[in-house]
Amino acid sequence: MLNAIQGLVWYPPAETKIPISDILSAFGRRCSNFKDELCSYLNVDNCILGESARALLFKLLWSLKKNDSGQRNEVLIPGYTCYSVAAAVAKAGLKITVYDLDPKTLHADMSSIKKALSEKTLAVIAQHLFGVMMPIDELVSIANKKGIYLIEDAAQAFGKTAGCKVAGTIGDFGLFSFGRGKPLPIGGGGALVSHGHSDVLKEIYFDSQEKGYKQAFLALATQFISEPAFYWIPEMLPLGLGKTVFNTAFKVKGMPLALEKILVRAISFITYLNSIRNRISDIYIEQIVPEYLLNHKKSDIISLIRFPVMIPNSKLMKGLEHLGVRRMYPKAISEENAIKPFLKENQRATPGAAEISKNLLTLPTHTGINDTVARRICHKINEYY
Ligand SMILES: *Cc1c(COP(=O)(O)O)cnc(C)c1O
Repeated sequence: MLNAIQGLVWYPPAETKIPISDILSAFGRRCSNFKDELCSYLNVDNCILGESARALLFKLLWSLKKNDSGQRNEVLIPGYTCYSVAAAVAKAGLKITVYDLDPKTLHADMSSIKKALSEKTLAVIAQHLFGVMMPIDELVSIANKKGIYLIEDAAQAFGKTAGCKVAGTIGDFGLFSFGRGKPLPIGGGGALVSHGHSDVLKEIYFDSQEKGYKQAFLALATQFISEPAFYWIPEMLPLGLGKTVFNTAFKVKGMPLALEKILVRAISFITYLNSIRNRISDIYIEQIVPEYLLNHKKSDIISLIRFPVMIPNSKLMKGLEHLGVRRMYPKAISEENAIKPFLKENQRATPGAAEISKNLLTLPTHTGINDTVARRICHKINEYY
């Protein structure tokens, strides 16, 4: 009996916790403006809110392409990244090119970027995967010199800083997401900020914005369903939760009003979520076999939304899946069949990205994981592999 009950305890893979009182504010009057709140939080002049980060990325690329009168038609993206980045590029009618990543750090391989840039490159996208801050200075200066737009994908790094720099505000444009599994996971919504390109942001707008009560109800339901005693329910249902699929048919709309109202209140909650992330990560750093850890300075890996480990040909064991451990994107961008038709011809290989897709496991760092569960995860990982 006890075993049967234990079998039903599923720890969710990602953070879902948001104060219920903040969610309920979706159904009340609007008190202040999330756009203003976010601009002052990030210390930027202007931002645009959308239904998702991919919708904003699509709109941005579309604008950049139009202003360039179709001269340049390539966008250089990480060889291992969220498929919706590739989907936004494809939807904007641009060619995807990829650069490689260093599997020891998940950072961009700068020599691979330099080789992949061409006179057709309109924009390059840098990312901070899981919140690991990528050193970006060299890329900023290359992009500036060549007149290529640098888009910083900070979908997984909202609220992160490196020295005096704030993730998402270093490149020409910065992209944030508040979707499932992101640093501040409201269940949807994204933001786009710019650094010295307010003119471009001014051209971007959405024709429609939903009230968003459905999204707010979902956010509320998620609070209950994510309890370990209940999480097997969504896991068993064919909801496609956590599946990575390449799909260009996403909605292009503004951020639902209800989500704006929740975010105004919830933005300060990121500090608490990050403190938990750091505490759980410290346990992983201390207890996991060192050769599985990546090559990071401690200061690079604070506030991670998931904790990455690299284990040769790691299959995800059932016992680990119950504890919220997951693989990430199943394949390198250039190896995904659905994406291949949108790639520029004659791509260089991205062996680092391929290695990451084979070896990467990500451990949960969220508030649903306590110290005991974190230690159990370490123990299982050290024992299994
Ligand atoms: C989630 C994610 C996106 C897309 O964000 P959405 O709001 O889901 O569209 C883009 N890039 C990265 C790295 C992501 O993790």
